[in-house]
Amino acid sequence: MRRSNILKLTVVVALITAIGPIIAAVYLAQRQGLAQEYERVQGYAREVVYRSDRAVMQMQAALDIVTALDSQDPCSVANIDLYKQIGLENEYLVGVGYVTGTSMLCSTLGVHNPALDLGPFNVRLPSGSGLRLNVEFPFAEGTLMTALQRGNYAAIAYGAQAVDLSVEQDGAMLASFTPGSPGLRASLGAVNPLWVDRLGSERSVLFIDEGFIVSVVRSDQVNATGAIAAVPVSSLNQRIMEFILLLVPIGLLTGILMTLLVLYLARQQMTISTAIRIALRRNEFFLVYQPIVDLRTEQWTGAEALLRWRRDDGSIVMPDTFIPVAEQSGLIVKLTERVLELAAHDMEGLMWQNPDFRLSVNFSASDLQSKESLRLVQVLSEKVGNRKGQIMVEMTERMLLIPEDASVIVDSLRENGIAVAIDDFGTGYSSLSYLENIKFDILKIDKLFVEAIDTEAATNQVVLHIIDMAKTLGLQTVAEGVETLEQARFLREKGVESAQGWLFGRPMEPGLFTEALQENRSRLSYRDRIARVS
Ligand code: C2E
Ligand code: CA
Ligand code: CA
Repeated sequence: MRRSNILKLTVVVALITAIGPIIAAVYLAQRQGLAQEYERVQGYAREVVYRSDRAVMQMQAALDIVTALDSQDPCSVANIDLYKQIGLENEYLVGVGYVTGTSMLCSTLGVHNPALDLGPFNVRLPSGSGLRLNVEFPFAEGTLMTALQRGNYAAIAYGAQAVDLSVEQDGAMLASFTPGSPGLRASLGAVNPLWVDRLGSERSVLFIDEGFIVSVVRSDQVNATGAIAAVPVSSLNQRIMEFILLLVPIGLLTGILMTLLVLYLARQQMTISTAIRIALRRNEFFLVYQPIVDLRTEQWTGAEALLRWRRDDGSIVMPDTFIPVAEQSGLIVKLTERVLELAAHDMEGLMWQNPDFRLSVNFSASDLQSKESLRLVQVLSEKVGNRKGQIMVEMTERMLLIPEDASVIVDSLRENGIAVAIDDFGTGYSSLSYLENIKFDILKIDKLFVEAIDTEAATNQVVLHIIDMAKTLGLQTVAEGVETLEQARFLREKGVESAQGWLFGRPMEPGLFTEALQENRSRLSYRDRIARVS
C-alpha cells in the first residue's frame, strides 16, 4: 500500500475509533433511559394496583364479617361498636354501614338520622356486589369515597387512597379502574380513560401516547382492579441526559485511547516501513544460508537463503518482524530484488564450483506479479551457471489463491530452468487442487508437522499423509525444522529425500557457510574413499 493511502486509512480508522464509542454511548444511554423509565412507570402502576387490591380485600373481609351477623337489629349499639372496630383495624377502610335501598341507616359513625343517601351503583360486579365510586358524605365534604355493597352492608374506603402515592416525578399521573367497567375509579391528574382499552386481555401494557409513557396493568390477585400510571416523555429525556452525562465521558475516553492506539500502531508501521527504506539504502540487509541435506547420504545438496537485517546498533532483526510490514507496504518487491542481488554476490563462486548445489530463495505474493523480481531470478540463474534447477523459488500456499495466475507463472519459471517449491505446506488454505493444477518440483513439509513426529499431538499422523500425497504427485520432499536424530531417521525411513534444520546446520553467513560446505563435502568424499578401499 502506498504511504499516502496508509495515511488516509489511518485517519479514517482513527476517526471511527474516536466517534464510534461516543455514538455507542448515546445509543446506550437512550436504551438504558427508556428501559429505566418503563420500569419506573410500571412500578407506579403496580403499586396502585397493590393498594387497590388491599382496599378491595379489606372491604371484602369486612363484608364477610358483617353479613354473617344476626340482622335483627343491625344498628344496635353492639353492632355499631363492631363497625367502629372494623374501621379502626383496617388502614384502607373508613368503615362499614347498614343500607336499605340506597339509604345508609347506620355505620361506623353511628346511627344516621336522617339516613344518608348513597345514590345508585356505578358498577355491578359479577359476584353480585355493587360498587359506588364517588360517594360524598356530609361529614367529609369534598372527599370521594368508594363503597362496596354486598347484601345490606357496604364497606367504605377512601377513593383516592390507591392513587395517593408520593411520586417524586413532575407531571406523573395515576389512576385505578375496574376492568370490564367503563371509566376510572380514581385518578390523580388528567388520565385518559381510553388508555384502559389498550390493555385488552393482557396483564399489562406499556406504550407512549400523547407525550406520556403509559403503563396499564391488571391485578393478578383480585380481578376487580387495574391501574394506570403515566409520566411525561420529557422525563425520559431527562433520564437519557443523566445517562449521557455518565456514559459519554466514558465513550470519549475510550475513543481517545483507541485513537491513540491506532495512531501509535500506524506510526509504528510507518516507522518500520520508513526504516526498511533507509536500511535498503544503507545496505543493512544480508543473507544467511541454511543447508539442505540429503537424508540418505548426509550430503549438503543445497541451501535456503534467509534474510536478516543488521541495524545501526548491531542488533539483528529477524524476518518475521519486517517481512509482513514489507508485504503490507509494498516494499517486499524491493527486498526480494535485494535478496536476489545478494544471493548472486554471495553464491556465484560456490555454485560454479558445485554444479549440483541448489539455492532456494523465498518469494512473496507480490513477487509473482513483479516483472523485475522474475527478471532478477533469471539474472541470478544465469550468473551462477544457468544450469537447470540450480535456483529454486519457494512460494507458500497463501500466494496461490488465484491458481490460474500462479500456474502460468510457475510454468514459465520452470520452463526457464528455475525450480519451484511449495513452502510451509499444510499451514495455509491449500487444497489438493493446487497441487494437481500447479506443477511444482519440491514440497516443503512445514516444521509444525516435523515437530509432531513422536509426540502425542493430534497432528503426528499428518506428516505421513503429506509424504504419501507428495509421492502420488511425483514431488520430491524437503522436511523443515528437523532438530532430532529420531525425526531424521523417521523421515528417511518414510522416504523423505531431504531435510533442513538445526540438526544439520543453523543459518550461516556466506563465509562460514562456504567453509562448512567444503568440510561436509570433503568428509563425505573421505568416507567414500574409505568405503571403496575396505
Ligand atoms: P521459512 O521459509 O519457513 O524459513 C524457515 C525458517 O525456519 C527460518 O526462520 C529458519 O531459520 C527456521 N528454522 C530452520 N531450521 C529450524 C529448526 O530446526 N528449528 C526451528 N525452530 N527453526 C528452524 P527465519 O530465518 O526466521 O525465517 C522466517 C520466515 O521469514 C521464513 O520462513 C520465510 O517465510 C520468511 N523469510 C525469510 N527470509 C525471507 C526472504 O528473503 N524473503 C521472503 N519473502 N521471506 C523470507
Ligand atoms: Ca522458505
Ligand atoms: Ca518453510
